[in-house]
Amino acid sequence: MTRTIEELIPDYIAGLPVYVPGKPIEEVERELKIHAVKLASNENPLGPSPKAMRAAEAVLRESHRYPDGGTVLLRKELARRRGVTLDEIFIGLGSSEIIDLAARVTLKPGRQGLTSEGSYAPFSVAIRASGAELVRVAQREFAFDLRAMAKAITPKTAVIYLANPNNPTGTAFSAAEFREFLGAVPDGVLVVLDEAYIHYGTSMGRGDAVEAYKQRKNVLILRTFSKVYGLAGLRIGYAVGRPEILSAMNKLRTPFNTSGVAQVAALAALGDRAHVTRCIETNARERERLCEGLRGLGYRPAKSESNFAFMEVGPEAKELSEELLHLGVIVRPLGWMGFPEAMRISVGTAEENDKCLAALEQVLKRKGRDAALVPRAGLKRAPTQLKKGELTAR
Ligand code: PLP
Repeated sequence: MTRTIEELIPDYIAGLPVYVPGKPIEEVERELKIHAVKLASNENPLGPSPKAMRAAEAVLRESHRYPDGGTVLLRKELARRRGVTLDEIFIGLGSSEIIDLAARVTLKPGRQGLTSEGSYAPFSVAIRASGAELVRVAQREFAFDLRAMAKAITPKTAVIYLANPNNPTGTAFSAAEFREFLGAVPDGVLVVLDEAYIHYGTSMGRGDAVEAYKQRKNVLILRTFSKVYGLAGLRIGYAVGRPEILSAMNKLRTPFNTSGVAQVAALAALGDRAHVTRCIETNARERERLCEGLRGLGYRPAKSESNFAFMEVGPEAKELSEELLHLGVIVRPLGWMGFPEAMRISVGTAEENDKCLAALEQVLKRKGRDAALVPRAGLKRAPTQLKKGELTAR
């Protein structure tokens, strides 16, 4: 046998890009000997609900026990809140796990998974990791072009990934636009609707996606406890979907995918309406202030329905992020997400946003110019980087 260990790994897995996590704040502070603020991973700057923390602490003492592998209490509460049955709720190790499982239960070599350019990178990874073809449709003005996506559906299409609001651009489509899109999707194609940032969408014409799901059962709605509920570190999310799909995903997930601590914290977080409201209101206020400040510096952030701002900053995006890092502000340059000239800044607390704006102003002053003079490539869509097994629909 002449095969090497490396050759064991199928091409469609060996060729996958590596996920680039945001820099850990402790590492930056240690390296640069500064106090840093992290505005790179769209986390909740107000933290978890105090009720969630108390619930988690109590269960921590039971850590010698396995958690409830069926996550029954949390599923019951979610089923009640969303108006669906228990077998229409799936709990995942963050919504990340569900993104991956949705591809694994619907795709195989010879099928296609469809998504947009300039969207959440794990969608493309999940599609390609299943050995299927990845088809990505160009965006319009940093938003999903749903009509073009509908036209890109072929008999091979098995799953479609949408994020609403979208990461990393922060843009969103309305409930009416989604309904129109669904009308063009055949029954035998699963539409994964990732609503990680939905609570922050204050002016997007939001509807209840569960209503759309009830009419057309080929929708899988993804929610996470990592954003407005402030539990990113505990890794828990859920899906509402057709029992046949959820039961296939249940066969693939690990038996105890979510911890007992995460389960009780999520349940308590759901019940802390006051905290959720405070997080939404603070984000809306601070997002406006951050974007206003960015516009004041000459940038043009895209209309954000999320907890971050997305903007083109020119070919020096990476260098600019490095300079901000040295001033103690961690932001996300987006080259690895297909926008080499753009940057994403998470909405922080008032102090964090002020620090970010002051640091940006300082960098621009040092360069002797304001952002309005930064050369712009006029990018209107993410450039395509074709990889093996990937098709791009135009
Ligand atoms: N979906 C989108 C669009 C995201 O931006 C993120 C995280 O940033 C996730 C899913 C992952 O969320 P989780 O922490 O639940 O895995």
